[in-house]
Amino acid sequence: MDYMSQKLVFVINSGSSSLKFSLIDSKNYKKCLTGIIECLNLLNTNVSWKSKDVCIKNFYLKSYMNHEEAIRFILTEIIQKKMNVVNDIVSIGHRVVHGGEKMKSSAIINKMIIDNIKELFCFSPLHNPVNLLGIESAIKQFPSLRRKNVAVFDTSFYQKLPECTYLYGIPYIFYKKYGIRRYGAHGISHSYIMKKSAEIMRKDLKSINIISCHLGNGASVSVIKNGVCLDTSMGLTPLEGLIMGTRSGDIDPSIIFYLYEKVKMSIKEIKNLLNKKSGILGLSENTSDFRNSEKKYFFNKKAKRTVDIFVYRLVKYISSYFFLIAKKIDALVFTGGIGQNSVLVRELAVLKLSSLGFKLSKKFNNENGLKNNFRISTEKSIPILVISTDEELEIANETVRLIK
Ligand code: ADP
Repeated sequence: MDYMSQKLVFVINSGSSSLKFSLIDSKNYKKCLTGIIECLNLLNTNVSWKSKDVCIKNFYLKSYMNHEEAIRFILTEIIQKKMNVVNDIVSIGHRVVHGGEKMKSSAIINKMIIDNIKELFCFSPLHNPVNLLGIESAIKQFPSLRRKNVAVFDTSFYQKLPECTYLYGIPYIFYKKYGIRRYGAHGISHSYIMKKSAEIMRKDLKSINIISCHLGNGASVSVIKNGVCLDTSMGLTPLEGLIMGTRSGDIDPSIIFYLYEKVKMSIKEIKNLLNKKSGILGLSENTSDFRNSEKKYFFNKKAKRTVDIFVYRLVKYISSYFFLIAKKIDALVFTGGIGQNSVLVRELAVLKLSSLGFKLSKKFNNENGLKNNFRISTEKSIPILVISTDEELEIANETVRLIK
């Protein structure tokens, strides 16, 4: 393939069973390559990717491919053989979910950063270990770019949360001694949404006020005042807050004691229940895929219950955050797989929020805002936007900023 010589950022978003990757031009931020390797460490590891000339869907690679093999495959088979742009890569950006209190912003990766990421395994057991695997594999595969790897933390966006939103109502010593506090997650996405909303609303970043709803497999709501996040629904870990694909979101902690003492479940089993078997999956007694419940909403009791509970919790968060920005609000924004695509969720949620000044345009909502400059609200309503999130772009931006 013939690609113009350029300076490219390789972005890696490494999850437990999937690895998303892209190559982004560091000058104009155009994407030359996007892709995902799915079912890592499982049967049927497969790859999908898209570049200027090629679009491959679910191509079987092998079974039980690990993170290192995945990065080697992307490097040799796609970037080298198919695109021939290996020498154009100048930096690598990594998503890291938990940066704790020490990682206040994105950072060039060195031993200290790696040690800090490891220290936070306890607060993000599902994410930080695999984020680190991605980092270590990339360093091995690209030894000449060793000092050009950047970690972009989801938690950085929440560094300015006020004490009253990040502290739990437990003895203060547990915060001081063990760092138990609310850290938030999905910060990279909410940060992108904030910037894009400012652009759409033609506002300065320093004066943008929005409520941003990232509704995907993981889901969270953040409220942003004058370009600073004041509160967010995820807490010490991404388990708190909204109902999610397989996560329970908020529960009374006494449920844990009950399950342990009366039902005789082990702590490991309870952890698994709340993280992997609850949420949409647990309520629907079918699947974590939201589309399934949405499709059956009008004729299946379980599906209706699932969607209604999801929407109720969402509305509860949006309305409780509304008072923080009230009349200054510039927009309510939906993003993530459900936020961007579910006409039903937006319709049910906004209907419940009508007394606050939100009103949907049925037509624009049905079109996911695609034909009306992102807007799905009526003229008289507080603006409601649907924006497709782009965490990769946000990571590339941060990587270029730091490597410069
Ligand atoms: P992740 O957190 O894994 O990045 P996504 O943002 O891709 O998740 O969102 C995945 C969720 O979005 C799934 O529950 C999926 O069912 C849901 N989703 C995708 N498309 C639609 C759609 N057209 N209508 C409703 N839900 C959808």
